[in-house]
Amino acid sequence: MPVPKRKVSKSRRDKRSANKGLVFSTLSNCQTCGNPVLPHQVCKECGHYKGVKVIRTKSERMYERNQTRQTKVEQGAGAQKDVPASSKE
Ligand SMILES: [Zn+2]
Repeated sequence: MPVPKRKVSKSRRDKRSANKGLVFSTLSNCQTCGNPVLPHQVCKECGHYKGVKVIRTKSERMYERNQTRQTKVEQGAGAQKDVPASSKE
């Protein structure tokens, strides 16, 4: 049976339990998409802050990454197609 290596000090224990009662009481809604947002923080859903686009969201980065991968694959396929066409001539 696993046993803790060291005693958890009063300080460490109380710091942990201090965070258990935390409640986000000041949630507001994003001006652009309406999702709940912490105050003074960028909306993670749409990347807007006070109605201004500030960051790219994770889904947007994923989309761009997939786009660049697709174009690379298409360019690679096109280059391979060009080689046999030139050899036929
Ligand atoms: Zn938003």
